[in-house]
Amino acid sequence: MNKIYNPIKKDWTSLLKRPTQTVADIEKMVDPIFLEVKNSGDTAIKTYTEKFDRVSIENFSVTKEEIEIAASQVPENLKLAIQLAKRNIEKFHDAQRTDRVSVETSTGVHCWQEKRPIQKVGLYIPGGTAPLFSTVLMLTVPANLAGCKEIVLCSPPNKEGKLHPAILYTANLCGVTKIFKVGGVQAIAGMTFGTETIPQVYKIFGPGNQYVTVAKQIATKYGIAIDMPAGPSELLVMADDSANAAFVASDLLSQAEHGADSQVILVSTSKLLISEVEREVEEQIKLLPRQEIAKKSIANSKLIYVEDKDIAVELINEYGPEHYILCVENESFFLDRTYNAGSVFIGNYTPESAGDYASGTNHTLPTNGYAKQYSGVNLDSFMKAITFQKISKQGIQGIGETIELMAEAEGLFAHKNAVSLRLKSL
Ligand code: NAD
Repeated sequence: MNKIYNPIKKDWTSLLKRPTQTVADIEKMVDPIFLEVKNSGDTAIKTYTEKFDRVSIENFSVTKEEIEIAASQVPENLKLAIQLAKRNIEKFHDAQRTDRVSVETSTGVHCWQEKRPIQKVGLYIPGGTAPLFSTVLMLTVPANLAGCKEIVLCSPPNKEGKLHPAILYTANLCGVTKIFKVGGVQAIAGMTFGTETIPQVYKIFGPGNQYVTVAKQIATKYGIAIDMPAGPSELLVMADDSANAAFVASDLLSQAEHGADSQVILVSTSKLLISEVEREVEEQIKLLPRQEIAKKSIANSKLIYVEDKDIAVELINEYGPEHYILCVENESFFLDRTYNAGSVFIGNYTPESAGDYASGTNHTLPTNGYAKQYSGVNLDSFMKAITFQKISKQGIQGIGETIELMAEAEGLFAHKNAVSLRLKSL
């Protein structure tokens, strides 16, 4: 772990740099895959599945039979856990509904706004190094609550050409319309253009590795919306002497085990805590089955000592962590000054894992500093706000002249005429 004491501001950018490749690096390999999927559809999907997932799949649509077999393979206690998590995620996302907004802006001019579901959505469920069936819940629950009609799910097949039973069980439990054993760039390109088998969607959701994240960004070039860039996971913990070093270390490792390109950072005003956390990480990592992955990201991790709370706050907002754990005496000082973070976990008994699985908040969150301008997935991500208006005769008489004057000043006489004709008819 890299220890840094009181870093000076001009070094912050290099200090806080994520260990991922740039979009430009990856774009070069993503662009041709998009073109090939666009031109050759399923054939290209199969070719790239063989190349990147090292498995040959004739039919990558998941069948009813596969879903039934999967359901029988998931242990009952895991099914119950998935159902409990689902209920909490449903409760929190259902509470996010907003009412219709209706206003009479001037006499006879009625304007209102209503949310409507996006009709066709594509969900990407990562599966490269871990079968993230929890992500199925995080995306399908709000998609269903929003009322999306077609919910398409893609996830990479394993070496036997299958999806993890828990992914299939959860997808079926949550009413996914179509499931495909396709991952990586080829899955995103498939949902962007549509192939003989995979339907085209209007918006693509879900986290993934850096290839998937860049592919989603490329999809926007072809008119497809995306939730946000949600790439390799990251965690920043802000802790002082009131924090429990073992807990902090366990949280850092929980993100480090995601992938070698994950990033974990501890910012602290306590030198003692930093050394205790370092010791704990060394001990706890030995017990992890994914220690090889965790070791690589821990090697990139940073333990940053700052002597001042104000500097800590500025540094954290500059980084914009995807996950932000706060274990400090004076919580409100930090919370009131938090502007850039995907999701915040407060106090010694709020591990980030809770939000990953079962507390109810969404775990699909902006990474790579995008927390500065993007929100994590929420109910509104699956909806659009449509505005409506109805103007009465009295209403157009009231605002008609204003519109005429403004249209004329912009040189748009057809706009003016659309009002003038109506005014003359009254
Ligand atoms: P993944 O499904 O994202 O990626 C696997 C796919 O990547 C494979 O199917 C393959 O097609 C493709 N691929 C692999 N190597 C490639 C290469 N060299 N060139 C082109 N394509 C290649 O699964 P993963 O790799 O396990 O990554 C999951 C990621 O999701 C992790 O980085 C994790 O941190 C992240 N994650 C993020 C969030 C979030 O909200 N931001 C949440 C959960 C997980």
